[in-house]
Amino acid sequence: MNKRKRKAVIAGNWKMNMTPDEAVAMINELRPLVKGKRGCEIVLCVPAIDIPAAVKAVKGSRIKIGAENVHFEEKGAFTGEISAKMLLTCGVEYVIIGHSERRQYFGETDETVNKRVKAALNAGLKVILCVGEVLAQRDLGITGEVLSMQTKIALQGVTLDQLKNLIIAYEPVWAIGTGRVATPDQADEGNGVVRKTVEALYGKAAAEALTIQYGGSMNEKNAAELLGKYNVDGGLIGGASLVAAKFAAIVDAAQ
Ligand code: PEP
Repeated sequence: MNKRKRKAVIAGNWKMNMTPDEAVAMINELRPLVKGKRGCEIVLCVPAIDIPAAVKAVKGSRIKIGAENVHFEEKGAFTGEISAKMLLTCGVEYVIIGHSERRQYFGETDETVNKRVKAALNAGLKVILCVGEVLAQRDLGITGEVLSMQTKIALQGVTLDQLKNLIIAYEPVWAIGTGRVATPDQADEGNGVVRKTVEALYGKAAAEALTIQYGGSMNEKNAAELLGKYNVDGGLIGGASLVAAKFAAIVDAAQ
């Protein structure tokens, strides 16, 4: 398949940054910078508290708003959690699931990632599923096995039809927030493993059509080279997504 036929998606992950006022100011700065940039979908995944302000601020633009997590139950005694329906009714389109920081600091497992993915897709959210190896796994030479296992478990029970609302982000954990970016070849190779795994589960056509992002210290300087790789269809961007000019430059690189 021609890579150009796949949907390129540039998504920001703000993590625990930005008050609602700061969110609106950043979006107001970003809007004119990305106007008319139709070569990729543009998503900002923001803290839950920022969602209403951010949804209002992007109205009339092509920027979509995402959340950074979602709970797998529909409602009930889950203090501090947010359901897919709550996100949807606030105007959220995307949700990040399985980010390594959730896995590392908040007890997220492959099994709970799978539950969240199914709940989000069943409710009608678009999912950005994160997979990635830690440095010790890379050093052991088991990156491929780790990516394949995380992908397979996360997608258990997900139908072929639901894949159209799924993006996978390959994020080597050692490259997240460290400034240590994967080489373009490493990114292409990791994304390629994810694509092969999806092919084994759903067939070649589905795997070739799937948007697979790279994430891990992507910035305005290295984006073009990373995004030029055959298997890299976009980026999930942390630090550089907090600055309108930097994020817009990455969007430019995806055109
Ligand atoms: C991320 O949070 O998913 C990420 C890739 O962060 P950073 O770009 O800061 O490495």
